[in-house]
Amino acid sequence: MKKIGFIGLGIMGKPMAKNLLKTGYDLTVFDINNDAVEELVTLGAAKGISSKDVASKTDIILTMLPNSPHVKEVILGKDGVIEGVKQGSVLVDMSSIAPLASQEVSEALLKAGVKMLDAPVSGGEPKAIDGTLAFMVGGPEAAFNEVKDILSVMGASVTHVGEIGSGNTTKLANQIIVALNIAAMSEAMVLATKAGVDPEKVFDAIKGGLAGSTVLNAKMPLVLDGNFKPGFRIELHIKDLMNALDTAHELGVPIPLTSNVMETMQALKVDGHAKDDHGGIIQFYENLAKTKVRKFRK
Ligand code: NAD
Repeated sequence: MKKIGFIGLGIMGKPMAKNLLKTGYDLTVFDINNDAVEELVTLGAAKGISSKDVASKTDIILTMLPNSPHVKEVILGKDGVIEGVKQGSVLVDMSSIAPLASQEVSEALLKAGVKMLDAPVSGGEPKAIDGTLAFMVGGPEAAFNEVKDILSVMGASVTHVGEIGSGNTTKLANQIIVALNIAAMSEAMVLATKAGVDPEKVFDAIKGGLAGSTVLNAKMPLVLDGNFKPGFRIELHIKDLMNALDTAHELGVPIPLTSNVMETMQALKVDGHAKDDHGGIIQFYENLAKTKVRKFRK
């Protein structure tokens, strides 16, 4: 069985790595947060002391990091993957980053004889724990076929969407749709609540109709409890929309709705909500209307 390296054991990476261990894969892990590394070691992973170290001991290297600069540092920086990686290895970056950054990193890795896939995910922490994430993968088809079984341990769907960078382009589209859905849900639910209708009943009444969505089903129960514990932090969604705006403007694609939600998130950040779950976007609309969308008392 191929040896797997896993770098980045945060909210998403840790449960994903645990699922690989449970399935019996031989895993070497690294994170700058040593507590996360130790937790995986107690479950049977080998401890890596740097990204370089992990790459030198494995054939397939998986990364799950916050954003483009972290991915560049871990792969191309000092003590990075590129210093230790074996020719013929495959690197799968599962982080959500700028498509252009994926292409840059891939070019550098190709010179070292290493193929790269950009394979961001959708689904959040619950699906990372269940192993039911949705993978959108860009890069060479042969490398995709080599790692598909490994990704399938962590995801319910694994889709090859095109060349390197296209996984992250797909993810940007995903993140625009999710952010706008949460904003639409927020505006509507604040209106209904201030009009005196129980938002829980509004949710029950509309979830089976055309306004129903995965976002509504995932976020409304949390909103009704006032639970904005992440999950997916607003600051990470700001990062994704920043990448979406940059990419869109470079291509000559105006995205006015996205820029509006971006400013909503910026206001929430100023108000100290950057680390809330993105379901917490509703707090901006609640504040405008001075109305909280919570369960009515019985
Ligand atoms: P996180 O911040 O919880 O985890 C990132 C991990 O990377 C941390 O453990 C951190 O210590 C580690 N790290 C950072 N720099 C490092 C370095 N130089 N060397 C080694 N380790 C380093 O983030 P997350 O929520 O797990 O998200 C990871 C990626 O997945 C992001 O791109 C995010 O946008 C994406 N994503 C997150 C969710 C979600 O719901 N949280 C859902 C889908 C996609």
